[in-house]
Amino acid sequence: MGALLWVLVPGVASAGEEYVVQKGDTLGGIAQKFAVTARAIQNHNDLASPDRIVVGQTLRIPPGPDAPLKYVVQPGDTLEAIARKHGFSTRELVTYNELNNPDSLRVGQVILVPGTPTVRRAGLPAALARELDRTRVRRGWTHIVIHHSGTARGNVKDMDRYHRDHRRMENGLGYHFVIGNGNGMRDGEIAMGPRWPRQLDGGHLASAAQNKYSIGICLVGNFDESPPTPRQIESLRALIQYLQRRCNIRTGHVTTHTRINIRPTACPGRHFPTDAFLRSL
Ligand SMILES: [Zn+2]
Repeated sequence: MGALLWVLVPGVASAGEEYVVQKGDTLGGIAQKFAVTARAIQNHNDLASPDRIVVGQTLRIPPGPDAPLKYVVQPGDTLEAIARKHGFSTRELVTYNELNNPDSLRVGQVILVPGTPTVRRAGLPAALARELDRTRVRRGWTHIVIHHSGTARGNVKDMDRYHRDHRRMENGLGYHFVIGNGNGMRDGEIAMGPRWPRQLDGGHLASAAQNKYSIGICLVGNFDESPPTPRQIESLRALIQYLQRRCNIRTGHVTTHTRINIRPTACPGRHFPTDAFLRSL
C-alpha cells in the first residue's frame, strides 16, 4: 500500500465544495481534479459554454460518483470490520479520516469511506483505468504472477505474434498484461493483452491448472542482466494493487514465475527485487 494510493483523495469533492478558477485552468482539468465530469460542473453552475470560465470565478463542485461514502457507526462496529466490509485496510481508513483514536469509535460517528473507483485507479492512467473498469472480471482469479520477457526490448504486438506463430498459442500472448521498459513500448507503459478483456486463462505457466487462476504480468527486459526500471516497478505496483482490489486477491498470492512454476525457471531474473517489491504491496 503506497502513498501513491492517496494522491487523488484530497481532491474528491463533497457536496457544496467551491473552487476558484486559477490561471491556466480548463473545465476539463478542474473536473479531473475533483473526479467529476466537466458537464456535471457546467450544469451545476449553469455555464453556457465550457470554454467560458474566467480566472477568479467561483465554481460550485457537484458531488461526483467517486465522492466518499458516509458510514454511520452502529453499535458493535469496529473500524476493522467497517474497513473489511468496504474493501479497505484499517490503516487506510485511519489515514483517510485522520483518526487520532481509532480504537474508540462512537455510535453515530461518521466514518468516510473513500469512493472506491478513485482509490482503485490511483497511479493508473485514466484511459487504462476506464478500460480496466469496463472489463467484467470473472470469478476465480486468485494469484498474480510476475514475469520478465528475457529480451532487451518488446511490445504487446510483437510478443502476441510470437506466441501465436512460434509457440502455437491460438489465443496469442500468454500474459494478460505487459509493462514496457522504453524499448518498443514507453517506459512504465501498461498494455493489456487480448486475453484480459475476454477473461481467458493465461498461457504463462507450465501448468494448465495454474493458468486458470493466475493473472500473468510480463515486464519487458532481461532482469538476469539488469534490474527493471523504477517506472516499471511503479506501474507494476499500481496495476497489481488495482487487480488485487478488483479480484480480491491477497498479497500472499502475488508471486513470481520462479516461485510458482512446476518446472524450474529463473524468470523474472536475479535482478528483479522480489522480496522488496512484495513487501511494498
Ligand atoms: Zn516467466
